[in-house]
Amino acid sequence: MMIANLTDPPLRGMLIRMSPWAPLRPCTWPACLSLAIVGDSRCPQHVELRRRTRRADDHARRRLDAFYQSRAWRALRVRVLREQPLCSRPGCATPSSDVAHVIPRRARPDLALDRDNVRGLCHACHSAETARRESWHRQ
Ligand SMILES: [Zn+2]
Ligand SMILES: [Zn+2]
Repeated sequence: MMIANLTDPPLRGMLIRMSPWAPLRPCTWPACLSLAIVGDSRCPQHVELRRRTRRADDHARRRLDAFYQSRAWRALRVRVLREQPLCSRPGCATPSSDVAHVIPRRARPDLALDRDNVRGLCHACHSAETARRESWHRQ
């Protein structure tokens, strides 16, 4: 029997299940033959690609969300950026460019426009926080 068409997803999935403790597994990206990095299902190149794609998705979602287009949110955003010109994450002194909810809007929509529930963050800290929050949700 021929084993080795590793680009065949069902077969590759089966091989991966057969060896759950193997330290090096093939990247799960279709037709990629590189090895996945430890602790992830993809090779470095595809981990990076996934990260970039997710960030683009995030921006698109935000642009389409009527809440972020509303006059009330925009006014609050301007106010927060004026009050917190520097990123509010401790130890970070980068100018704020993003305004983020402390308690996510999904969890407390009633606090979406509460001044105490929003703070200014730089873009890097905001992205890092969003990524961390999403990875909690996935677990
Ligand atoms: Zn890959
Ligand atoms: Zn920052």
